[in-house]
Amino acid sequence: MRALVTGGAGFIGSTLVDRLLADGHEVVVVDDFSSGSEANLASARESAGDRLTVHAQDIRDDATIALVAGSGAEVVFHLAAQADVRVSVARPAYDAAINVIGFLHVLEGAREGGARKVVFASSGGTIYGEPDPSVLPVDESQPELPIAPYGVAKKVGTDYLRAYRAVHGLDWTSLALANVYGPRQDPHGEAGVVAIFAGLLLERKPCTIFGTGEATRDYVYVDDVVDAFAKAASAGSENLYNIGTGQETSVTALYAAMAANEGVTDPPIHADARPGELDRSCLDAGKAHRELGWTPQVSLADGVKATLDWTRTRSA
Ligand code: NAD
Repeated sequence: MRALVTGGAGFIGSTLVDRLLADGHEVVVVDDFSSGSEANLASARESAGDRLTVHAQDIRDDATIALVAGSGAEVVFHLAAQADVRVSVARPAYDAAINVIGFLHVLEGAREGGARKVVFASSGGTIYGEPDPSVLPVDESQPELPIAPYGVAKKVGTDYLRAYRAVHGLDWTSLALANVYGPRQDPHGEAGVVAIFAGLLLERKPCTIFGTGEATRDYVYVDDVVDAFAKAASAGSENLYNIGTGQETSVTALYAAMAANEGVTDPPIHADARPGELDRSCLDAGKAHRELGWTPQVSLADGVKATLDWTRTRSA
């Protein structure tokens, strides 16, 4: 298959590129390298030969339509995004320019080029807004009521996919990702806390926890997430799937697991809670298990260890 990955130089996107190449596919990357990097593509460039093409392109530019249309891609994986919730609150029009208009350029290109399917990186931590704790872990039957502009754009992405299917017959799958962590993560992303703690622990610097530390997230390892994208290329037509572990981990427990891995016994520093942060977040991925055949394989302990090992190698 020939696949196109927008955001293919980013944390999750580059890991997906590696996976698609390992599976024998040809890959076209479209990325403006605003948060992604050439370093993330180094292993892909080494292994791929002429099966990898990389285009430096801002998806806000409507030249993206012709680029995607002319790529010959059968499946378009759309991961390029302004991925910071706080930036979306501060600069909602900027967020929408990338996450809505940019996505429409990619969709138009997919349609014009005759792609079979678009697989979209949505966000399970934001599209459901602030669900009542009694419904945790949240499944896909919960109403999509995002409260941050970033979550609105992610919800609208799936709405556009439904519309493109109805009007143009383009197949799609949306993956509502939990808090993704692992090697290559930038500390500024949605689940940046793992990357931040990793960097600080390795430098033996104190880690700060905002609020009580009892706020929970559903941490899912990047290789598992990429496996869901790979599976969605040929399954899960016209559907949204939660991609998470179903397990809530508090920031305090996350810190304890990471500190223990490094032999650090110092307690974390506590600071005031940051406004607008969810108290609890957790996804039920039963539908992905049943319909995509997807199950997360990597435990938090193993994933945290792999992330710390990667951070150590990178700083060395
Ligand atoms: P990332 O910032 O590492 O990746 C985003 C990529 O998009 C980067 O390579 C960046 O350079 C590129 N990009 C940004 N703006 C662009 C533009 N205008 N034109 C072209 N390329 C552009 O973030 P990530 O964590 O790998 O996220 C990948 C996708 O998954 C995003 O769509 C994000 O919203 C989604 N997601 C991530 C998480 C998470 O926990 N990391 C959770 C839910 C959803």
